[in-house]
Amino acid sequence: MLLAHRIQLVPNAVQRDYFARAAGTARRVWNWALAEWLRQANAGKRPNAMTLKKRFNAIKYSDPAWLDENGQPWLRTVHRDAHAQPFANLARAWARCAEQRHQGRPVHPPRFKKKGRSHDSFYLANDRFRLEGMTAILPKIGQVAVREKLRWPGKIMGASVSREADRWFLSVQVDVPDHVAKLRRSRDDVVGVDLGVSAAATLSTGEKAAAPRPLKAWLRRLRIRSRRQSRKLEVAKKEAGIEGRIPKGTRLAASKNRTCGARRLARLHARIACVRKDFIHKLTTRLCRDNQTVVVEDLNVRGMMANARLARVIADIGFYEIRRQLQYKAQRYSTTVVIADRWYPSSKLCSECGVRNAGLSLGERTWTCSTCGVRHDRDVNAAINLQRLATGALAAQSALPVASPAVTPGTIVDAVSAGGGKVTPVRHEHGRQDSSGQEESGVHLCTPS
Ligand SMILES: [Zn+2]
Repeated sequence: MLLAHRIQLVPNAVQRDYFARAAGTARRVWNWALAEWLRQANAGKRPNAMTLKKRFNAIKYSDPAWLDENGQPWLRTVHRDAHAQPFANLARAWARCAEQRHQGRPVHPPRFKKKGRSHDSFYLANDRFRLEGMTAILPKIGQVAVREKLRWPGKIMGASVSREADRWFLSVQVDVPDHVAKLRRSRDDVVGVDLGVSAAATLSTGEKAAAPRPLKAWLRRLRIRSRRQSRKLEVAKKEAGIEGRIPKGTRLAASKNRTCGARRLARLHARIACVRKDFIHKLTTRLCRDNQTVVVEDLNVRGMMANARLARVIADIGFYEIRRQLQYKAQRYSTTVVIADRWYPSSKLCSECGVRNAGLSLGERTWTCSTCGVRHDRDVNAAINLQRLATGALAAQSALPVASPAVTPGTIVDAVSAGGGKVTPVRHEHGRQDSSGQEESGVHLCTPS
């Protein structure tokens, strides 16, 4: 099973400088490759990453654009992997773009990367580095201190070095043997999870996990720091004699004040992301560890993000990330994740008698069933209905293997379609995971008031 361990690096000033240069190289090569790709495509040719890379290799030590002021090829000072990988990344980006077009989803073609705007990172092939205890031995710069030891045994598949605010991380992808990667569940419950805005996750047991909503907490500070930063930019523009938009290709003089301000702002953004990630890791680990089946709704996150009033809240909780982590952690605990159909009326059905309350509006937090008279908490009721989807299906399909993550597609669908909703068992896909830490800790959960 492929797992990634993201370790913080503790570089010295020289190494820090190298990282920045390597990430800059990766970005510049990406831009060169993308420009070349678009030029060929516009000329009616079919561009290809391999031939582009060959072309680049032919010019990279001789073309004046890739030489420094002394006429020396500066690419030699950065390890080859940093400028070879962008070609593979570009090919993947175009493939993804083609897939999006094929599926009729919104298409996102690869874009040019801009210094300070794009994610700074570069790649290391597995035979180019090694980890020895609390040191990483990287090409060109040698030993770099790391904050923790590599968590997993197994074959190292590759790594990338990336920056988050002013910290650098090494994300190592390891092919972990199954007997290590697979974890034991602590319980074999079946749980329905209603993802929502008032409580991030409401479980069918009645527990409500309140999201920390770090953005909400830090928004005021974020606004202050952003405003300070934009004022510093205005000053820099004034000194350079620019009014309105900054013309393309201009490089404003970076004052120490502006650099420090930018770092402070970036640190705050990173901190917000960390708080959010911590909560999601603990929640999803707990859900997968304690349950043989987790049922969640198929939320239309993109649709919800289009609602300006909801967007900030949704993004602050991180619904998409919850789903993503549930799916890969389920694989480790052999838990089945069941995604209920988007149109399954989980909040409108009475979990006692099954009558549908069509008149239920979005604002009603509690309601009383007109048929059986039971008073429902909106979210708990929805979570119970979601859980029913799985228990109903389990009862109908008693032969269903309890601990198997691979439910044959179609079986559950038939079993519950009478109940009004369709259930799609989730496929577990091997893939790149950028982070998966905090495995054994508890979750912030509070009981409903
Ligand atoms: Zn009822």
